[in-house]
Amino acid sequence: MLLNPVISKLSGKLVVLASASPRRLEILSNAGLRFEVVPSWFKETLDKSLFKNPYDYAVETAKQKALEVAHRMPFKHLKSPDVVIGADTVVTVDGLILEKPTDKEDAYRMLSRLSGKEHSVFTGVAIVLCHDKSGSDTDYKVVDFYEETKVKFAELSEEMLWEYINSGEPMDKAGGYGIQALGGMLVEYVKGDFLNVVGFPLNHFCKQLGLIFNSPPESPAHKVKRESDEAWTLVNSLSEGAANEEVELLENGKDGSRMSMQEQNVIGTECSRQDIPHSIISLLDGFKASKTLFTASKLKVFDVLNSSNSLTLEEVAGQINASVLGTERLLEAAVSLGLLERVKQQNTSVYRNTEQASRFLVSDSPESLNGYILHCNDMVWPLFSHLENAVREGTSQHERAFGKKNEEVFQDAYYSKDEVKIRFMDAMHSIARVTGKDVATAFELSPYKTACDIGGCTGAVAYEFTKVHPGLSVIVFDLPQVIEMRRHFQPKETDDRVSFVAGDFFKDDLPKADLYILARILHDWSDEKLHVLLSKLSKMCTPGCGLLVSEIFLDEERKRPSRALLQALSMTEGKQRSPTEYSDLLEKHGFTPKHIKHTDNLLDAMLFVKEDPNDKRTLLGCSSASIETAELE
Ligand code: SAM
Repeated sequence: MLLNPVISKLSGKLVVLASASPRRLEILSNAGLRFEVVPSWFKETLDKSLFKNPYDYAVETAKQKALEVAHRMPFKHLKSPDVVIGADTVVTVDGLILEKPTDKEDAYRMLSRLSGKEHSVFTGVAIVLCHDKSGSDTDYKVVDFYEETKVKFAELSEEMLWEYINSGEPMDKAGGYGIQALGGMLVEYVKGDFLNVVGFPLNHFCKQLGLIFNSPPESPAHKVKRESDEAWTLVNSLSEGAANEEVELLENGKDGSRMSMQEQNVIGTECSRQDIPHSIISLLDGFKASKTLFTASKLKVFDVLNSSNSLTLEEVAGQINASVLGTERLLEAAVSLGLLERVKQQNTSVYRNTEQASRFLVSDSPESLNGYILHCNDMVWPLFSHLENAVREGTSQHERAFGKKNEEVFQDAYYSKDEVKIRFMDAMHSIARVTGKDVATAFELSPYKTACDIGGCTGAVAYEFTKVHPGLSVIVFDLPQVIEMRRHFQPKETDDRVSFVAGDFFKDDLPKADLYILARILHDWSDEKLHVLLSKLSKMCTPGCGLLVSEIFLDEERKRPSRALLQALSMTEGKQRSPTEYSDLLEKHGFTPKHIKHTDNLLDAMLFVKEDPNDKRTLLGCSSASIETAELE
């Protein structure tokens, strides 16, 4: 029943929690589940009067939250989840459904209703299983259930009530209390799953996962009764060895909780039930969401909120030097995108960064993507606004967008010393810091002692390599103007195993090494240009030398939404390639593909080894060690 056997079934699958609740995140992470958090944009505004039971409302809300994320991710996040988990918790007393209080008075009304009484806490959970069919179709199967826990409150005095309300804790919690913190003091007893009251019924969830992924088809555990029509379908499309089987499902749960499973067939990611083309709507709105993120970053919203923890609307507007009305629209849009939170504090609303924003959007955080976001705003956005011309003319639109010829913009980015150069380096640096570790750990590299990171920019990737591989020194090779400015990006703790050499990889000699790293270099150039660089590398490398390529690889069939193809729309020259195309390119220069790693981060990696044309064994030229010559995975 428990999570561990189920976890192995989920490993390698993209599991997504469609909830911003830190409590759900903690419960699932503590259970060892690996997942991403993508807060749902579904507004909790279903008409409660339409539901016969409060748990039906919670289940439906959970389902809509999870489906919204499942539909949006392939288009907004450019990856398709395998499993999306949605949840919604409500408190019911005297036939009323209590959600989160809107203000202190509302919290007072809720808590006084609960005082001295037993009430029920229901959490509805939906597990959406996404299954790619042939073509671009996706099946979404929804398994949903709910859990009920009874909680009795002590009689609460006015003083206790107000003290609790003034602590601020009730404001973002269903029923106006958090049992895991101060609210625990109000509770006399709990009957049922405590974690259900916190926000996620872990035990019931594990049982359901067991049903979906583990039980043999004939097991009685598969029998779940559906209230409406007695006809049941269990979907096991993600379970190894038991694909899409139809079985009878079961009876009511012991504690009165219902287990239900429903299947929704969706054609081309459009939900036939509602007949709404979610995928198209998401694409329609995608640019607004991107520009909201860019603008909030550009105006330093995440930075000002970081330095003050939380601010009122007027305070944010004052600090970013913008109108109150405009700032309110921006902040509310950012809240709806899950970038910010709005909470009540002493009768006023304040805004604060979400955990993700603090980690990735604040400009001086170690994993900040701020540099890349500003690059997208300042350099990529203007190019995309001329996409129509780019398509008509088949050329990049630098002249229209920036009033400069293509080569001149590249002069700015690659060769000149001005602010544009720093901004470009900052963009590269921010992505490299987030992806560098996954690329550095992608392969066993102990046979290699010296590496050269060609076009290594600020050295961010090189530092990740030396951190992970204690026996490796890395020379960063880049244009003189870039090397000159690397000090702006020096990490706090430098490492004398990282050194810098200036030069032009098309014209100058490259430093000698037994491993060459080409991270985000090859896609920038045409095959003809690369022939110059790769011929040079081929001559430098003795048999056994390694070549590590890190790029966004196109999938071979070009079926999945791809960041690489979207990036290609504004590229000057160069092209995006699949692993086979990179292999073909490099094999022409004597490099054989040995391993490929899809890192599940922004960049993937392939390791090539220089073959001895006379001897198929791969010996490391510069040391006696040899690397494994396993087949390409
Ligand atoms: N490898 C880094 C990474 O993954 O973060 C940076 C990639 S960035 C897209 C390309 C890098 O190649 C820039 O740092 C640029 O300065 C460098 N570069 C471009 N043309 C070059 C040339 N002819 N010789 C040396 N470096 C060059």
